Amino acid sequence: METPITIIGAGPAGMTAALFATHTGAKVRLIDGNERVGRKLLVTGSGRANLTNQHMDANLFACADPAWMKTLLGQFGHAELIAFLESIGVLTYSTPDGWCYPVSESAQTVVEAFDNALRLAGIELVLNTKVTAIRSDKQSYSLTLDSGVVLNSERLIVAAGGKAYPTLGSRGELFGSLKALGHTVLPLTPALAPVTCDMTPYKKMLGVRLDARASLYEGTTLLAETTGNLIFNEWGLNGPAVMDLSHHISARSGAKLELRLNPLFASELTLRTLIARQRSTPTPLRILLGAVLPPKLPPVLLAKAGFSMDVKINELNDAQIGKLFRLLTALPFKVTGVRGFEYCQVSAGGVPVSEVDPLNMRSRTAPNLALVGETLDVVGPCGGYNLQFAFSSGAVAGTKINN
Ligand SMILES: Cc1cc2nc3c(=O)[nH]c(=O)nc-3n(C[C@H](O)[C@H](O)[C@H](O)COP(=O)(O)OP(=O)(O)OC[C@H]3O[C@@H](n4cnc5c(N)ncnc54)[C@H](O)[C@@H]3O)c2cc1C
Repeated sequence: METPITIIGAGPAGMTAALFATHTGAKVRLIDGNERVGRKLLVTGSGRANLTNQHMDANLFACADPAWMKTLLGQFGHAELIAFLESIGVLTYSTPDGWCYPVSESAQTVVEAFDNALRLAGIELVLNTKVTAIRSDKQSYSLTLDSGVVLNSERLIVAAGGKAYPTLGSRGELFGSLKALGHTVLPLTPALAPVTCDMTPYKKMLGVRLDARASLYEGTTLLAETTGNLIFNEWGLNGPAVMDLSHHISARSGAKLELRLNPLFASELTLRTLIARQRSTPTPLRILLGAVLPPKLPPVLLAKAGFSMDVKINELNDAQIGKLFRLLTALPFKVTGVRGFEYCQVSAGGVPVSEVDPLNMRSRTAPNLALVGETLDVVGPCGGYNLQFAFSSGAVAGTKINN
């Protein structure tokens, strides 16, 4: 008798793979070390689950081969995901900047909808059970469970995630087995992580939250640039603007890196116009800066530029104003690293996408094996890209595993 298709990992990738595999008429078994399915999904988007993005674009992923991602998203992209979520009872809406959330504003309702769909589809759920090793003979895969039991399966989907946020279940324990099956495993590093910096010059700005353009430099070379929200902490910077740069930092351990923040990326012209209008008046510069910046920022900037707190705009010459704008549009931060796996949203590294066929997510190395989600070396930016990748790769693997 044919063994069920076995899927390791009941995260977004594994659950989606399981549901699509049952559409093909196959029997499916889904194993997870946690007591319930979708444990990490439950905490995504600060409990709101940013499920996807209206502006889904293969080129925005840190993926060695954008064409690979385009092929995958071409089969199951944003529109297909919205329709699939609706089919299991999850309605979505999108914010003006394209970030998509459940109408319920609750990741819990998404996890419950998945749980219900898995049970309705008759999927065998094997929870609270860890797979400790995968071996293959020519006929099938044998999975050793933490109970000591060995399960056999002719077709296997590995959806066991990466190493991010290990308390939620994914600790990278199966990469050794994937290596033994012939796969390369690129070093795993934190991504979408808070960035640690020398905050000594910015101590008075702790707790400030603002939108900024963040540019990451190694010497004079611009490595990457993003725009978004960020928050100042005693150990460094957090928020999408810097998290989207963090994989570049993890990949360059020991390098001398500098972050330059431009909080005026959208308001420089407004400030220049305001200053030009008030140029001959005794208006304190602090007041003018306060028109476009959070109140804790102007005193720090004035001190850093070497001006007194009460300097008036008519006391400054054009060169001094030019110097101020150069500082304001490129506030320098000495980068010391990124926070660890405990604080990051995804991990970079894992199995390279070149070893998996994006048309079916099958391994190019081992027969009847598919690899999906964060197990692969893909990092999307903040905004729903990583969940979209998990869902897309799961849907394609589940659909194609049986043929
Ligand atoms: C705090 C936080 C917030 C996030 N917010 C967002 C967001 O809003 N939008 C977004 O797009 N992305 C977000 N992400 C990223 C997103 O959660 C991941 O990209 C996604 O969960 C990856 O899905 P996956 O199915 O590949 O892996 P996972 O979700 O990690 O699932 C893998 C599953 O495999 C199981 N497993 C692992 N090893 C074994 C084993 N040996 N035996 C049995 N089971 C095993 C684990 O228990 C786990 O349930 C966030 C991540 C975090 C940590």
